[in-house]
Amino acid sequence: MIRIIAIAVATAMIPLAASAAPCPGNSQALGTERVMEVDAKTTPRVGRKHFPTTLPLRPKELVLTFDDGPWPGTTPKILDALKQECVRATFFLLGKNVEPHPELARRELAEGHSIGHHTYSHPLLDHMPFAKAEAEINKGIEEDEYAVYGQRRTAPITPFFRFPGFASTPALLDRVNQRGIVVFGADVWASDWDPMSPDQELKLILSRIDQVGRGIVLFHDTKSQTAQMLPGFLRELKKRGYRIVHVVPAGARGVLN
Ligand SMILES: [Zn+2]
Repeated sequence: MIRIIAIAVATAMIPLAASAAPCPGNSQALGTERVMEVDAKTTPRVGRKHFPTTLPLRPKELVLTFDDGPWPGTTPKILDALKQECVRATFFLLGKNVEPHPELARRELAEGHSIGHHTYSHPLLDHMPFAKAEAEINKGIEEDEYAVYGQRRTAPITPFFRFPGFASTPALLDRVNQRGIVVFGADVWASDWDPMSPDQELKLILSRIDQVGRGIVLFHDTKSQTAQMLPGFLRELKKRGYRIVHVVPAGARGVLN
């Protein structure tokens, strides 16, 4: 009888302890705690490195993002690590890297990640005329949409965009937001564009995350040290009590869940 009561109490407590779905084959997985809809109407620009506000995250909640891919060799490793931990992330694709490897972009979508955009060829958009900058944004979106969904269009399924090098102008920010596209900055990054060992990167990003406590984390899935440190990074987040939030477009929650 006592045993039955104990089981009943334990079962009742599960929703309080963990809201994430179980992760097949990995009972210790970090998992994805919750899904957050992000809308340009309410949060047009997010990430405190460049903007005054960020996503409404609770303490110890992180959003993982990866830029510049897909890239053969590194992106598959990153996808494997995310899958192992049932973590959902957002990839900001580069059109010229999607073109030769559409299968990698489609794998990102198939494994439940969000597909954002990062131009076609990664120019600094604040260094060119407005029309040329918008054409670059649109060419990137078109290539990504064609590769992932089979349709060329400039209104993306997931209206998330990150400026290469965070190089925006007020006019471009306004234009992108007017199109209903959320501009993602970052709250913390690994500086993985600098050469460093996987272990150095792991220590650096963990110390920075501990400092900010929550936020949008920026990595590059084109970098081998990032791909190498990611499995250990995800395990360490779990140990330190961090939780993962998956960002999706407004209205997508019901479809994805
Ligand atoms: Zn980039």
